Amino acid sequence: MNKKSIRDIDVKNKKVFVRADLNIPLDDNGDITDETRIISSLPTIDYLIKNNAKIILASHLGRPKGKFVEKLKMDPVAKTLEKHLGIEIKKTNKVTSDEVKNKIKDLKSGDVLLLENLRFDPREKSNDDSFSRELAELADIYVNDAFGTSHRRHASMVGICKHIPSVMGFLLEKELSTLSSLLEKPDHPFIAILGGSKISDKIGVVKSLLNVVDTIIAGGGMCYTFLKSIGYEIGNSLLEEDMIEYCKQVLDEFENIGKKFILPEDTIVAKEFNKDSIFKTVKIDKIPKGWMGLDIGLKTINKYKEEILRAKTIFWNGPMGVFEWESFEKGTKEIAFAVVESEAQSVVGGGDTIAAIKKYNVADKISYITTGGGASLKFLEGVKLPAVEALLDK
Ligand code: AMP
Repeated sequence: MNKKSIRDIDVKNKKVFVRADLNIPLDDNGDITDETRIISSLPTIDYLIKNNAKIILASHLGRPKGKFVEKLKMDPVAKTLEKHLGIEIKKTNKVTSDEVKNKIKDLKSGDVLLLENLRFDPREKSNDDSFSRELAELADIYVNDAFGTSHRRHASMVGICKHIPSVMGFLLEKELSTLSSLLEKPDHPFIAILGGSKISDKIGVVKSLLNVVDTIIAGGGMCYTFLKSIGYEIGNSLLEEDMIEYCKQVLDEFENIGKKFILPEDTIVAKEFNKDSIFKTVKIDKIPKGWMGLDIGLKTINKYKEEILRAKTIFWNGPMGVFEWESFEKGTKEIAFAVVESEAQSVVGGGDTIAAIKKYNVADKISYITTGGGASLKFLEGVKLPAVEALLDK
């Protein structure tokens, strides 16, 4: 890695601004439903506490659209951090203000101060330099540990780096090195499992995976546009009209270079997009008019399993069907079991895919779960992440 990390600098008694990704999911009561992002941020915070830094911790939470939203305050994050770190987490009610400055003045080495939700300030998302400067003035050093937001050009991610020395945290470093090794020296066969609802999100990554993987297996809503592009009737299944041509090109490219892009042979179709809809399994060329494919069928599951069990490296992003509903979860569930049964190095990303592997209790058997769905796809596409580019070179 050619960027400096917190290991490369002296943090003792320094005010260190840590931009983490503490954007955890909350239920209607405001309770955290999944602490993964907080837990993934702990190594950096813990290191800074042990090395006597004064830590100013900041993150966004949800989509407050530049305004104060009571339900999106950082208080539940502070409580969870206290539980894991076993120390008091001080908190501000604002993102930048005199209150924040005064609380920072009172910080002792090893203290942690959590700022309020960065996205309460509209200048965060617009990468406004006045906001970057206000944040930078709070600290001596900036640490980016928010891999999941590193593809975003925001004030606390990119702008701030212009004003103070900026380095990587442990999570960012780990994410980048794991994903780099996937691109640089994967063991073969390397297969990518792609699903989820939208092709447009995965366009770039499919193209760049062409260079590194041996096989792509496709499921989820996105596979029906691929099927349509080679002449299948897909009924009311998800379709991205403007992607049809692109899908055809990708399939041709895979064929031309002798790599496999495998599509479902059968699918579970439903009459309505509804958890209680009637459903049946049909061959892929027999999708009835008016019905929609909501999961891969058993033949497809078995074929995909064979590929997965042969693989030495697996990258998985996107569920195989509407796994949230029992009638359409089998594809995703069986693929999850096959991934952990295989001896391959497995990297899984994307909010829904992570939710699925947790639902089926296999998360701890996955070699690496990337915390940044969108950022990991961008990175694998070969796009330079602006918030990483902005950090100090080694
Ligand atoms: P994405 O955010 O693109 O990864 O898509 C994830 C979502 O795709 C999940 O909520 C799934 O329920 C949904 N999904 C998966 N397969 C299908 C399908 N065949 N039709 C409609 N939605 C699907």
